[in-house]
Amino acid sequence: MLPYFEKKFGNASEIHSWGTEAKVAIEEARRNVAKALAAGEKEVIFTSCATESINLSHKGLIEGIVKGERLGKPHIITTQIEHKAVIETCKHLEKLGRAEVTYLPVDKDGLVSVSAVEKAIRAETVLVSVMFVNNEVGTIEPIEEIGRLIKKINQLRITNSQLPIYFHTDATQAIGYLDCDVNKLGVDLLSLTGHKIYAPKGVGALYVRRGTPIARQQDGGGQEFGLRAGTENVPYIVGLGEAIRIVKSQITNHKSQITRLRNKLIEGVLQIPGTKLTGHPTKRAPHIASFIIEGVEGEALLLLLNEYGIAASTGSACTTGDLQPSHVLTAMGYKPQESHGSLRFSLGKDTTEEEIDYVLEVLPKIIEKLRGMAPRI
Ligand code: PLP
Repeated sequence: MLPYFEKKFGNASEIHSWGTEAKVAIEEARRNVAKALAAGEKEVIFTSCATESINLSHKGLIEGIVKGERLGKPHIITTQIEHKAVIETCKHLEKLGRAEVTYLPVDKDGLVSVSAVEKAIRAETVLVSVMFVNNEVGTIEPIEEIGRLIKKINQLRITNSQLPIYFHTDATQAIGYLDCDVNKLGVDLLSLTGHKIYAPKGVGALYVRRGTPIARQQDGGGQEFGLRAGTENVPYIVGLGEAIRIVKSQITNHKSQITRLRNKLIEGVLQIPGTKLTGHPTKRAPHIASFIIEGVEGEALLLLLNEYGIAASTGSACTTGDLQPSHVLTAMGYKPQESHGSLRFSLGKDTTEEEIDYVLEVLPKIIEKLRGMAPRI
C-alpha cells in the first residue's frame, strides 16, 4: 500500500502514466478479490465498507427493478439477526414505500430455516438477503441450500417470463474463514469489508453477478463500471486486494489454529458456573466465541476485562442510559436479562495459546467480583 500514498500518487481515471499505474494496481486488486470469490473481474465493485456495499446492493436492486417493467411493490426477505447495515437499509426502503420486507425468525442457535425462506417467497419477492456468518454469535447460515432453493424457483420463473429472485449474502464475517465461491453459494450479490481480513478500515467490495439490475446510488463520474462514482481510494483498494490474496492462501492454517484455540476458550469459559454458549455448537465460524454470563452485566465485564488488557464485546449497547438487549439474542429467544450478560471474544490469526490461558485465568475472577458486587438484573 505504501507507495500509493506517496510516490505512486496517480488518479486511476487519468490517462497519463501516473494514472495508468494506479489503474493497473486497482485492476490487480480486483483480480485478487474476484479470484477469492471465483467471480469475474467486472463483477467486483470497490466501496468504502460492507455497509456501503449492502446499501448499494439493496437500494440499487430495488431501484434497478422498479426502473424496469416490473409491476407491484417489490418484496424482500431477510432475517431478524442481520447486521444493522441490512436491517436499517430494509427499514429505509419500507419507510419510503419502495419495498415490503419479511424479517424471518431464527431458532435458539441462530439458524434460519430454508423452508421458512421457501414459505415466505411470494410472486413479488425480488431479493433474499441472508448473512453467511452472524457477527454476534458466529452461527453459519445455510447459504448454499438457500442458493439451491432460489435457483430452483428461478428456473420456473424464467420459463414463465417472470423476474428472478436475486440472492444476497453479507459475507463480512465469513470471508476470512469460509469458502465464498459465489457459484457454489448460488448468490448474485455478496458484500464484504476489508478490516475483517487485516486490510485497512474504510474499504470494502460488492460482488454483482453479471446481469443483476443494480442502479447506482452515488451519482458523479463513471468509476467502478458506473456503479460507484468518485475517485478510487487506491492504497486501500491495493490493501484489500493483497489482504484477500494472503488470507485465502493461508486460510487452512489459520482456520485449524483458530478453531483449536476457540474450542479451548469455549471449554474453559463453560467451566465457570452460570455460563452458556450462544450460537450453534458446531455450525459456527472459527473465530467467534460468544456466551451469556448469568448475573453480570456485559458492559461492566468489558470494562474490567479492558483493565486487564483484554478486548471483548457485548451484544448489549448502553444508549442514553438504557441497556438495549441485542436484537440478535432477542431473535434467538433470549430474555433481556440474559442478553445483558452477553460476552463475545473474537480470535484472529495472531491470537496465542498464552492469551487464551490468560483470559481463562482472569475471567472467573472478574465474574466472581461482579457477581459479588452487583444486584441481580
Ligand atoms: N455485516 C457484518 C456481519 C459485520 O460484522 C459488519 C461489521 O462488523 C458489517 C456488516 C459492517 O461492516 P462495515 O462497518 O465495514 O461497513
